[in-house]
Amino acid sequence: MPDAFDSIYAHFAPEISIDLGTANTPVFVRGHGVRFVEPTVVAVDSSSGEVLTVGEGARQMMGKAPRSITVIRPLRNGVISNYKYTEALVRQLLDRATRGSLIPPRVIIGVPGSATDVERKAVREAAIGAGAGRVYFVQQAIAAAVGAGLPILEPHGNMIVDIGGGTTEIAVLSLGGLVVARSLKMGGNRLDEAIMAHLRTTRGVLIGERTAEQLKIALGYYGRPRGRAPERVVGQDMRALRPGTFEVREEEIGSAVAEPLGEIVDAVRAVIEVTPPELVRDIADGGFVLAGGGAAIAGLAETLALVLTMPVRVAEEPMLCVARGGAQILADPRLFNALYPTPQSRIGRWLRSIRFGMSENSSYSSR
Ligand code: ADP
Ligand code: MG
Repeated sequence: MPDAFDSIYAHFAPEISIDLGTANTPVFVRGHGVRFVEPTVVAVDSSSGEVLTVGEGARQMMGKAPRSITVIRPLRNGVISNYKYTEALVRQLLDRATRGSLIPPRVIIGVPGSATDVERKAVREAAIGAGAGRVYFVQQAIAAAVGAGLPILEPHGNMIVDIGGGTTEIAVLSLGGLVVARSLKMGGNRLDEAIMAHLRTTRGVLIGERTAEQLKIALGYYGRPRGRAPERVVGQDMRALRPGTFEVREEEIGSAVAEPLGEIVDAVRAVIEVTPPELVRDIADGGFVLAGGGAAIAGLAETLALVLTMPVRVAEEPMLCVARGGAQILADPRLFNALYPTPQSRIGRWLRSIRFGMSENSSYSSR
């Protein structure tokens, strides 16, 4: 496609940014901000495999569906474990976001760093099938850093820790590329599981995943307890085999989540240890940013700052960083050209780097 057409198209086309998270899929539309946030859940007819519904409607069925319906989280562990259903989700959400638009939109999709070419191809085809004109992929860690306001194009150490439902992405970026990136196969879901296990072993009480998540949000903390009142929840007494209400104290939740949170802290420390010293200095001075739903855990940022002895801040609206960052990348030519260089601009950059003797920069721009 000729360049002139591309730039005219890019000027007029609607822009849509989708963050394929393990727990939630926020969708941004230029001019509208967040259009909607749907849980990354698909409900399927168990015998035919046909998709019944996606998003919130499917999540309502979790734990309550009859055998004829299977409820699937297609990205549960941070990999596109089921791309047929990921495709169905993308197709439906994009359909909803583009309804009424005459020009095929430019679409950017935040995907886990582990997404393979085959998975990207399936998602791309779903997006094209739903009417996308152009489809771009961005690693969630890069989009999260942009959405959190980090100047990723600068020759500067920018660090992001994105704690999602099924994964935690830790990355250091400089000059528009990833310098170090680690993906932990655990996030908020693991905290919920830890809360369930803790109440089972210490009190003989069984609670569901949704209840555990509510307890985590209401009473979870890292470091010092916050002095919040106990919560009453419905659970099942393992001995009486009957449901009842139970009072849960803040300290019980804090001690349940301390171990998985400690694993995240260790992983952050390990990333800093393998980061080039010049960039570590930037991070130690300017700090790093927490994004994702897990960033909101009480005391997490303060405690991380204390144990790692560097400033830590929580991004604004941390669950929306990736989708917002994707939208910013489409809208900002400087970011866009740096992340999606055309062959000409790639050669130009290479020639310039030789002329100015900066060829070491290229090692930072690998994605
Ligand atoms: P993903 O990117 O994997 O879809 P999100 O960034 O949307 O994940 O975050 C979802 C996770 O954040 C869930 O585990 C959810 O329980 C957790 N979460 C959401 N809000 C809070 C909160 N206020 N405190 C602690 N955890 C939260
Ligand atoms: Mg995410």
